[in-house]
Amino acid sequence: MSNSIKTVNPFNNEQLKEYNFHTSEQLTQLVKGSEKAFHQWRQTSIKERCRLLNNIAQILEDDKEDLAKLITLEMGKPLSQSLSEIEKCTTLCDFYATNAEDFLADELIETEASESFVSYDPLGTILAVMPWNYPFWQVFRFAIPTLTAGNTAILKHASNVTGCALAIENIFERAGYPQGCFSAIIADHQAVEKLIADDTIKAVTLTGSEKAGKAIAATAGKHLKKTVLELGGNNACIILDDADLEKYMDTIVNARMQNAGQSCIAAKRFIVTASIYDEFLKQFKAKVSGLKSGDPLNNETTIGTLARTDLGDILKKQIDNSVAMGATVISGNKQDQAYFEPTILINITPDMPVFREETFGPVAPIMKVKNAEEAFKMASDTRFGLGTMVFTQSIETAQNHIDAIEDGAYFVNELVKSDARLPFGGTKASGYGRELSREGIHEFVNRKTVYINLL
Ligand code: NAP
Repeated sequence: MSNSIKTVNPFNNEQLKEYNFHTSEQLTQLVKGSEKAFHQWRQTSIKERCRLLNNIAQILEDDKEDLAKLITLEMGKPLSQSLSEIEKCTTLCDFYATNAEDFLADELIETEASESFVSYDPLGTILAVMPWNYPFWQVFRFAIPTLTAGNTAILKHASNVTGCALAIENIFERAGYPQGCFSAIIADHQAVEKLIADDTIKAVTLTGSEKAGKAIAATAGKHLKKTVLELGGNNACIILDDADLEKYMDTIVNARMQNAGQSCIAAKRFIVTASIYDEFLKQFKAKVSGLKSGDPLNNETTIGTLARTDLGDILKKQIDNSVAMGATVISGNKQDQAYFEPTILINITPDMPVFREETFGPVAPIMKVKNAEEAFKMASDTRFGLGTMVFTQSIETAQNHIDAIEDGAYFVNELVKSDARLPFGGTKASGYGRELSREGIHEFVNRKTVYINLL
């Protein structure tokens, strides 16, 4: 087994850097350092923690070009999208800098007691296992609220974005966080398993595949540690007869193709009612054919490569198996190592892999249905539960379905997206727990009941 990680630019397969795994002694020291930092950090006022958030925001602003380039080199997304990712992290810092004090204030609850309230105490060191698809955003949306609540954090990032992991650690250091508050570890899965068992680790959060979620949750369960799981999705994008295609076609294409389709909340199944189907297909195909591939560092490139070649191999299999079951490819379906051409499939039935499974790439299966009722029925025919989106001018129809949606999100005339102000998370095979907003900062706290009777 290798003792190191080699990061590779997926656009040209050139090696970027090699990183040695931390030894078990180094990991032990890191964990000890995190525990020690916690005792100091939890005493720091929330005002001071918020001040450091402003420092982070400033560093992100100052370094955004370099940081964006690092993202693009390591996982292949177009530079403009990497820049937007860094900018979104800045708004997250601003949001919690403004609101954390309010979110973490004692919550008074009237009872027979002289005074009763809930206080929100930090738990300790939280372990985060994170994916490569938004290598800054995924880490920030966990780390910013979690540290601001007074916890410390240890990050095990996806191995292909190790450079981003170390850059993030460096940002926390430069922003003035006490040493040990935020540490990145370079470790394999076995080391993570051991770490979860360590008494210092109080809870674990994972964003990634269902398989990884089950493995991490099983280990955490064995040691009675809380988990938050943000797993894959298979979001439906419903297009009803009266959808305003002129206005929303850019949004609809973006919902599937941004980040080369490698987003948990991307639109992965298009369900289109019969009378608008032909027009939708025409406009969707035209827009998709306008996407420009090429070196993701190039400003003109609007669709990058996948993060790794093997991810393209999985997509190819899902498409081929669906075609064998009767699906028709009407554009794309060419793979050149980590590049996968945006692909559109029609004649979709619910038993096909492109409908049943999550496709983590630029693949759009388009299903034709009779009417709105059938569209919503098909949309909910999935094991996943991240989100559903619908495009229609009949807001009443969209509103009538709010209660029936079992997902973590329901967006009308908008793509499902994360926003610092709104809770984010899934149901069913998409995981559990919430990130962002007030809910996110309360995931890793002890909601302590305090009950006082004055003499
Ligand atoms: P993955 O295997 O789940 O990787 C995500 C993170 O989990 C990485 O840091 C990975 O580390 C770690 N990991 C995986 N198995 C682990 C284990 N048993 N113990 C400890 N750590 C573990 O995801 P992937 O293989 O890169 O992508 C495959 C699929 O994951 C995609 O097709 C998609 O379904 C899903 N995915 C979802 C999201 C999302 O945002 N919801 C993001 C990325 C991927 P290593 O890198 O060292 O393996």
